[in-house]
Amino acid sequence: MVDPSVVRLPRSLSEIASFHAHVYYDPQTRGEAERLRAWIGERFSVTLGRWHDAKIGPHDQAMFQVAFVVDVFPALVPWLMLNHGALSILVHPNTANPHRDHTANPLWIGRPLAVHAEILPEEGAVDSTLLPNTNPVKPA
Ligand code: ZN
Repeated sequence: MVDPSVVRLPRSLSEIASFHAHVYYDPQTRGEAERLRAWIGERFSVTLGRWHDAKIGPHDQAMFQVAFVVDVFPALVPWLMLNHGALSILVHPNTANPHRDHTANPLWIGRPLAVHAEILPEEGAVDSTLLPNTNPVKPA
């Protein structure tokens, strides 16, 4: 008999309710972050989160969050690859496991930073209500 712990089925894309991109900055790069945030808002239908000039949650630096639906990923993430400049960006899926979303499953654009994921739960509510607060007017 096969040990069931060895048999792993692939996880389904349906687990992903949405994505976050966390754009990190410091006092020297805040201006660059402001410019990137404006560029994102002009080009993508996303939810721009507030500025967190102090560390918050599992994040090791000041940052702002960009929340977006799955359909926005194929345009926004490559665009961030081209336009992040000196900024580090953490892109992670939002599933029912916030801890794993931030540890095993994210990707980094730019230099990776520490993520203090020990404070994140292994189970959480998946928030699939996402209201964009941008009005994109320019092509990406
Ligand atoms: Zn996040």
